[in-house]
Amino acid sequence: GLSEKLQETFKRLKGKGKLKEADVNEAMREVRVALLEADVNFKVVKDFVAKVKERSIGQEVLESLSPAQHVIKVVHEEMIDLMGGASGKILIASKPPTVIMLVGLQGAGKTTHAAKLANMLKKQGKHPLLVACDIYRPAAIKQLQVLGAQLNVPVFSMGEENPRDIAKASITHANQNGQDVVIIDTAGRLHINEELMGELRDIKGSVKPHEILLVVDAMTGQDAVNVAESFHGDLGLDGVILTKLDGDTRGGAALSIKAVTGCTIKFIGLGEKMDALEAFHPDRMASRILGMGDVLTLIEKAQESFDEKKAKEMEQKLRKQEFTLDDFLDQMQQMKKMGPLSSILEMIPGVGKQLKDVNIDEKDTAHIEAIIRSMTTEERRKPAIIKDSRKKRIAKGSGTSVQDVGRLLKQFEQMQKMMKQFSGGGMGMLGGGKKG
Ligand code: GDP
Ligand code: MG
Repeated sequence: GLSEKLQETFKRLKGKGKLKEADVNEAMREVRVALLEADVNFKVVKDFVAKVKERSIGQEVLESLSPAQHVIKVVHEEMIDLMGGASGKILIASKPPTVIMLVGLQGAGKTTHAAKLANMLKKQGKHPLLVACDIYRPAAIKQLQVLGAQLNVPVFSMGEENPRDIAKASITHANQNGQDVVIIDTAGRLHINEELMGELRDIKGSVKPHEILLVVDAMTGQDAVNVAESFHGDLGLDGVILTKLDGDTRGGAALSIKAVTGCTIKFIGLGEKMDALEAFHPDRMASRILGMGDVLTLIEKAQESFDEKKAKEMEQKLRKQEFTLDDFLDQMQQMKKMGPLSSILEMIPGVGKQLKDVNIDEKDTAHIEAIIRSMTTEERRKPAIIKDSRKKRIAKGSGTSVQDVGRLLKQFEQMQKMMKQFSGGGMGMLGGGKKG
């Protein structure tokens, strides 16, 4: 997959001291393939790669980063830059009702997301009204009514009247009933055609929406670009809702749509349930498209707070297999500065999978400290000597239970095993020295 490919590439770049043009070129060749595999539009990929190349070559590599890490940083930053902009907000009109119109192809998720938006706005204290302007299938009106009932949000419908008239009437209805946000669900088609666009222009003309949001299926990949281009050209979009990101798509559509139309991606849909709606985060999306865990976050956090000298010492101990409970405590305090231990480990490529075997309960950090502090020096060095009576004493001294002490010892044992794997596998953060 993409993730492995990128890791391969960056591994090759590692340790070269500084970025040479050839290195960057090689990396970018693979990045290009990776992005195409993530379904990013061809032209967007081309421009993007050129931009990153330009920025990388000749730029001084940050002292604290390896050349490989530096390339990751540039690629990632450029992607965030490209997709950036405010998101997750509906502009509320000064004079109610705020009118939101959802447009898009059939099956993109318009009806579902009309309801999700209503749900979100309701939670924000608004009084939304859902409007059924998909008149071509009786089931479409019913679908909206079912969702509305589920959310306790009123649904305005007039059967098969002209959508333009339904939309117009819904505004009057909202005004008379104290509904301050009107969300218009429209009909789609399988493909863009003049009939569809004409209808949508009509609705737009009759209610002058404050926000026209394109709902687009992330799984449609490169097609999403053409769709977004057409709708934007015809209607003038105010934003995009990218749906079905709960699937296994890498979401390259996000990059393409933003690059081609300039439209902000405001929300993402992550499922069929009504609460599966989130604000769009360019940084998260960039990581997802690159598919390399949160390598960059790891780099940044590590840079901020990991004490290199401590890491070196730790590496020495790992090599000699002298890692004790004291070191465990020490390590834990280092980690605390970086965030939850498991989230740190998850960010290291390839480690995520091993984590399921290691049960590190963050909430118990304070307990763990207390327990280790209640041990004698000898016990901390040789936990194997801690049998029942010692466990009892330690539990008492730390205000925990014998089970807690037992659990910690077990965790420590697992951690030791895992660290041995790290030190054998050359996995960066903890040094990567060979044991023995
Ligand atoms: P419309 O034709 O644009 O109104 O699309 P619908 O709202 O009827 O959605 C089409 C199908 O996609 C339905 O089965 C929805 O439940 C499903 N769907 C919508 N949004 C999402 C999403 O974010 N994730 C998933 N997995 N399914 C979705
Ligand atoms: Mg629909």
